[in-house]
Amino acid sequence: MTTLNLNTNVVLSLLDNQPDSVFYFVPVYAADNNKEIVDFKLAYCNKHAALMANVSTETLIGQNVLTLINSNNLFYGIKLDELSQVYQTEKPFEASFLNPALNKHFQLWCTRVEEGVLTITRNTTNEVKVQEEQQRQVELTDSILDASINGVLALEAVRNENNEIVDFEFVKANDKVELLLGKKEKELIGKSYLSMLAPSKENGMFDLKAGVVETGVPVRMEFYYKGVGIDGWFDISISKLGKSGVVETFTDITERKLDKDRLEQSAQRFETVVNTSKAGMFTLIPVKDEKGEVIDFRFGIVNQAVATYIGQTAEVLMGSLGSTYFPAYMTNGLFTIYKDCYLHNKPYNFDFHYEDGYDVFFQIDVTKMGDEVLVTFTDHTVMKRLQRELEMKIIELGRSNANLEEFANAASHDMKEPLRKIRTFADRLKRSLNPKMDETEKSLFHRIELSTERMQLLLDDLLEFSHVSERPLETELVDLNEKVKKVLTDLELPIEEKHATIIAEALPTINGYRRQLQQLFQNLIGNALKYSKADVAPEVIIRSRIVNGTEVQDKIPVELNDKTFYLIEVSDNGIGFEQQYAEQIFDMFQRLHGKMEYSGTGVGLAIARKVVENHNGFIWATSQPGIGSTFYVLLPA
Ligand code: ADP
Repeated sequence: MTTLNLNTNVVLSLLDNQPDSVFYFVPVYAADNNKEIVDFKLAYCNKHAALMANVSTETLIGQNVLTLINSNNLFYGIKLDELSQVYQTEKPFEASFLNPALNKHFQLWCTRVEEGVLTITRNTTNEVKVQEEQQRQVELTDSILDASINGVLALEAVRNENNEIVDFEFVKANDKVELLLGKKEKELIGKSYLSMLAPSKENGMFDLKAGVVETGVPVRMEFYYKGVGIDGWFDISISKLGKSGVVETFTDITERKLDKDRLEQSAQRFETVVNTSKAGMFTLIPVKDEKGEVIDFRFGIVNQAVATYIGQTAEVLMGSLGSTYFPAYMTNGLFTIYKDCYLHNKPYNFDFHYEDGYDVFFQIDVTKMGDEVLVTFTDHTVMKRLQRELEMKIIELGRSNANLEEFANAASHDMKEPLRKIRTFADRLKRSLNPKMDETEKSLFHRIELSTERMQLLLDDLLEFSHVSERPLETELVDLNEKVKKVLTDLELPIEEKHATIIAEALPTINGYRRQLQQLFQNLIGNALKYSKADVAPEVIIRSRIVNGTEVQDKIPVELNDKTFYLIEVSDNGIGFEQQYAEQIFDMFQRLHGKMEYSGTGVGLAIARKVVENHNGFIWATSQPGIGSTFYVLLPA
């Protein structure tokens, strides 16, 4: 190494051109002791110092430090004991301070040089200001970041020898990051990203960030992060920072995401329900003209059932005009109903026969829903057709019944005369032949008589039945107690003969056909006496009570369940019958017991049923052989 030999002038000139104040102090010893330093004297100062002190170098040189410190602001910060220490220990001393009188920052260096101390004072006000500004900026950024509702972190890529990104280092993290990771920013800065957030390697977050560094293309997405105590959805955004870094901001959207998922799920469920419904469902959005008048509707939501009907997809239908797919709806009354529902919030429910290109029967419900009209409909075309067929069948049946009754009526009427003649001529013949007839012939004659008698009975009953079939036009109030009384008078003879007991409790007065009701009780009480046991005196009880439809619901159609009825019972202690025949005894000519022991034609209960039906009532029986029977008549109250 070559040593540069500078002469004194060069050195002094160098010092004079320094922008710092340079002083050289030499010690002043006590008079009695040349070891004890009591002061320092200024031996040199450069031009800059004199300029700063606003005096000539000559004025300054030779003065004591203490005098200088007290007389000139420039010497603020230089201290006697520090100079002594540097001189004695030969250890340099450095300090920075604010000179309040000058309001400037200074940096002071003191070094022992030869037999004195060299001090350099540099004005650092600008540097300090810049530093302070920088610090202020950092603090401002930190407080902005910490005030952010998002987590913010900056990372710097760490590369291997092949220049591949193998990790990141934390550069910055706001308090949301601290909260999430449970670590202070100080503990994070400079640390490996993957050592803190290991799952990032597996779940793709690391690659995402590396990608942003390499391509510079920012990323914004919703990301599900699980692991290291984190389990949730984040809305993240990653942008490149500087040459090889990224800044990431994130918001925890787990709750929002869950809400959204739940909402989506329930919307999906709703859609499934609507679409699997057999009923057609659609909403209508009003279309208005410039005056605000509703002139048509557009389809809003359309379910699968509707789409299938129209033969279009729901997507095509949504938004299209009602009049496009149902041109007739403008004139067939439907539009008016939808409009009325929309304008006046008035719900509708009605049956509708749609005939425009279709021939279908709908049950339609119309309700206002928000600013739309919700229409649901079910197609009951099949039911309606069946109902139509049924109605036709009923009319036919009625016609054939009427024919039958007409026939029965005519037959019984017309046969009466020939039968009367047969009986009269048979009687005459018997009288004239009687003396000549042997026993066999007499018995044959007797059988002819019995048969004609029976024929007579049958004709009478048939005639009665056909009478009952013709309903009188007017009903009247009929006191059933009176009717029963009349019947009992008519049956006086058998009652007496059989020693029968009749208990007739109070019966109601009803609106009906007088003659028919008498016939009803005649047949029921008559049978109770007729089908009595040979050795037991008959006991017949007639009573009535009020019942609700539900109490007899297995006997009546369900729509009558809420109606009230009189339930009239006629019970006996007679021979009874097997319950299995309880229905069939009400049919024409049905008999369970032999005509030898019990006279009759099998028409009585058919008449009874007809009468009850004429009064919109119901009749049935319960019985037990050898115990007795009860006949029930249910009449509307
Ligand atoms: P009939 O003229 O034979 O009495 P009904 O139509 O009145 O005809 O009765 C039909 C059949 O029901 C009877 O033949 C009888 O077998 C049975 N029946 C009717 N009422 C009673 C009763 N109170 N007890 C037992 N059997 C009865």
